[in-house]
Amino acid sequence: MNLVPVKIQPYFEMKSQTMDGDNRLIEGTLKCCYDSDFEVFFAGEIKCGFFSKMFLTSENDNIAVKARCKKCGRTISVFNSSIDGYEHCEEKQNSICLSTRALICKKCHDNSYSVSIKYEYPDEQELRDLEISDIDNAFSWIWITLECNNCGTKYKNIVDCETT
Ligand SMILES: [Zn+2]
Ligand SMILES: [Zn+2]
Repeated sequence: MNLVPVKIQPYFEMKSQTMDGDNRLIEGTLKCCYDSDFEVFFAGEIKCGFFSKMFLTSENDNIAVKARCKKCGRTISVFNSSIDGYEHCEEKQNSICLSTRALICKKCHDNSYSVSIKYEYPDEQELRDLEISDIDNAFSWIWITLECNNCGTKYKNIVDCETT
């Protein structure tokens, strides 16, 4: 059973699966054209912290991250808080179209990243007991980490979002 959102599965290279109590943590890298080299676009607000940290926070309660493969140009909707995650399971999805901006590396001003995603899912049996049909979308937390492919700066957990 692959607990990764269906729309992400074709581009997700699993790195690890661990249990944290009843929760399952799934970590992997976004891949397209056998590579993780994406231009990243976001909706929301970027807050800057110390040591070249950046965090994506919500603007009108919504954040979104898209990644565009630099080789083939395919755009992958990595996360959209208006439709993705536990809170939106079983909902007739009414996607809010968010306008996105390019995410520019603070250090080198490039837009070229490796994208890592970590999902937390509640206990699978519990999800089944609740008769949630789109279990793949029932993750309760998402973290996204970017690493600049040009200068190597790592933006750990630039997205750190609870979805319940
Ligand atoms: Zn590609
Ligand atoms: Zn950079």
